Amino acid sequence: MTIIDLHSHTTASDGTLDPLELCQRAQERGVHSLAITDHDTVAAHQFLREYTAQIDLQLITGIELSSTWSGAEIHIVGLNFPLNHNDLAMVVTAQSDARRQRSLHIAERLARRLPSWQSEQIFQQVLDSVVAQQKSSPHGFTLSPEEVQIGRPHFARWLISQQLCQDMDSAFRKYLDNSKIGNLKAFWPNMSQAVAWIRALGGIAVLAHPGKYGMTATKLRALIKDFKLAGGHAMEVQGGNTPHSQIQQMARYCREFNLMASQGSDFHNPDYRWVDIGRLPPSLPEGLTPVWSSWC
Ligand code: AMP
Ligand code: MN
Ligand code: MN
Ligand code: MN
Repeated sequence: MTIIDLHSHTTASDGTLDPLELCQRAQERGVHSLAITDHDTVAAHQFLREYTAQIDLQLITGIELSSTWSGAEIHIVGLNFPLNHNDLAMVVTAQSDARRQRSLHIAERLARRLPSWQSEQIFQQVLDSVVAQQKSSPHGFTLSPEEVQIGRPHFARWLISQQLCQDMDSAFRKYLDNSKIGNLKAFWPNMSQAVAWIRALGGIAVLAHPGKYGMTATKLRALIKDFKLAGGHAMEVQGGNTPHSQIQQMARYCREFNLMASQGSDFHNPDYRWVDIGRLPPSLPEGLTPVWSSWC
């Protein structure tokens, strides 16, 4: 059985393994093809260029772009673009700037809720914690304070460290979820823009985890149709614990809209055993074109 995992995260974004640790774990688990798809950065791939001799799997370039569509935050995974593409830095810089501005706003809005804290203090502590986590990388993977990507999970970890929340779930529920202050969609480009960027880089644009947006079937169909019309190539049909009925539903949409099918664990953290790297159903539903057939 060939294990193909096309969605995963490292400490370059909100994962907890450094890029080489992730590759090693994927190898131990028998993964043949791995796409690292950090949120809005390719820093892990740039780092791994020096380590090709130690990597015994097919590494696929990837990125997970944050975007918006009809008031919802939508993630577009880009796969298999050349890492040396001239325009890649432009895309990454646009997204990093948006993410940095967003994190400053999240800190401000948290400070309004937490009277004993100044927003600058919150931002600095979160930034320091991300830099410190990277300093503990066993392979020396570090980014400068200007380069690190701050996400909502980092604010959640800070809230927990200050004993303002008990765990990630309650931090998101209380402060960071869609309807709460941490969610500031205005900073992200439109979905069609994100798809256009991936296409301009020569990559494959994949609609990430369509079942996780909490949409009605009618809204989800509208999203998938717009994604297709924007030039999207594929959608994720299954992750590590996608319910059977949802896999079948996504497979129907793939056929209806003539999209290729992708799959990925969306691995972040080895502590979450139920979303491990490479832990996926043994095959795709019948009659779908796997996204990897475009590069295999
Ligand atoms: P951001 O990229 O800053 O918008 O943060 C989104 C990330 O937060 C997602 O990719 C997940 O990794 C994580 N996330 C979202 N919701 C939750 C939750 N309820 N509990 C834990 N992590 C979450
Ligand atoms: Mn994440
Ligand atoms: Mn995502
Ligand atoms: Mn992801």
